[in-house]
Amino acid sequence: MLCDNITRASDGTLLFAGQSVNALADRWGTPLYLMDEDRIRQNCRMYLSAFRSAFGEDALPLYAGKAAAFRQIYRIMAEEGLGVDAVSPGEIGTALSAGYPAENIYYHGDGKTDQDIAFALDHGVGCFIVDNGDELISLQEHASARGLRQKVLLRITPGIDPHTYHAINTGAVDVKFGVPVETGQAMEFVRAALGMKNIDVAGLHCHVGSMVFDEDVFLRTVDLMVGFMADVRGELGLVFRELNLGGGYGVRYTDDDPTADIPARIGEVAARLRSRLSEAGLPVPRFLMEPGRSIVADAGMTVYTVCSVKRIPGYKSYVITDGGMTDNPRYCLYGSAYTVLHTAPRGKLRAIFDLAGRCCESGDIIQPAISLPAATGRGDRIAVCTTGAYNYSMASNYNRFGRPPVVMLRGGESYLAVRRERIEDVLAQDL
Ligand SMILES: *Cc1c(COP(=O)(O)O)cnc(C)c1O
Repeated sequence: MLCDNITRASDGTLLFAGQSVNALADRWGTPLYLMDEDRIRQNCRMYLSAFRSAFGEDALPLYAGKAAAFRQIYRIMAEEGLGVDAVSPGEIGTALSAGYPAENIYYHGDGKTDQDIAFALDHGVGCFIVDNGDELISLQEHASARGLRQKVLLRITPGIDPHTYHAINTGAVDVKFGVPVETGQAMEFVRAALGMKNIDVAGLHCHVGSMVFDEDVFLRTVDLMVGFMADVRGELGLVFRELNLGGGYGVRYTDDDPTADIPARIGEVAARLRSRLSEAGLPVPRFLMEPGRSIVADAGMTVYTVCSVKRIPGYKSYVITDGGMTDNPRYCLYGSAYTVLHTAPRGKLRAIFDLAGRCCESGDIIQPAISLPAATGRGDRIAVCTTGAYNYSMASNYNRFGRPPVVMLRGGESYLAVRRERIEDVLAQDL
């Protein structure tokens, strides 16, 4: 199977985290997001122990909350001792409402408004990751007005193309995030920040892209970042105390994807970083990374009920579900691949279907050309695997469908973390 939390019982019915997917769908209804909490915690521990053994006790993985942000996730991150990334007052507010400590929040984003900056400062967010010069100036003004000195990391763009799909590639020179090294603008960015009384420049940040499997990408990133750190020390006399290399490790969506050995990759990054820093005569900074997808993706599964099966002789066949682009827009946005499974044995004969949703949009396809039992029919349950990242968090109310609930699976039990949106919830803002 794709991941060891997806199995089949001896009678062929699908199990997720050891529980019957059909029984969960009966109890909680569909469409349904399932999240394997034990898996999330296992992924957190894998990162923490890899970080500590490679970089020492102060190294910290920050969970990139945009992958899946709701209260219970932040409670888990607080218990597991991970830092978190947030990109909006909504994510910050969700984390704080879960009791997550503000000082461990790193605040991202390329378009922070004055209200956003004020909100984060007033709530004691530990670190701003400043994306650009305009934000820096505004942050200095707001921090000065409050009489505080705000810790920041400066986001720079090292100029690496990780050879992933362009919409999720953020490391090349002319992307909308960060300030490029190549044009000399990153050095001016650091110089400007150093000159600001209410800004505490703790370190640098970069994020080169998502779904990275290529072992070389982070090593090349280390080379470029250390090169820039050495230039900054030479030109401005500044030695950074933190280095954040962003997120991006890939996960297995289909059997064609490789398995990333993340602890081994982190060990290689540590070795490379130490050797480049010692060549440059620089001390080892506190090390941070921001995994999102690789913490929650394989903990997720979405379950649908089939509404209809459309067979068009000589053309395509469709399995139409009670969900769609509203709960998983990733195929529509990026052409993302997923593994799709029938939850019950339905005979040996198989057929090819497009798995579609129920939105008024022909592009509302969850996954094209998948193999399912030929006998698949109305009322059957279909599971889409590896939906823990960027599914619930990207869900919408298009066509005024309510978002599905998030049900957590822990130690053989299930409990509700986010309830299903009802029509009243969808209507809540209408006057
Ligand atoms: C999206 C993002 C992440 C998380 O990336 P994953 O691929 O989910 O690990 C981390 N940092 C930044 C700045 C991001 O934009």
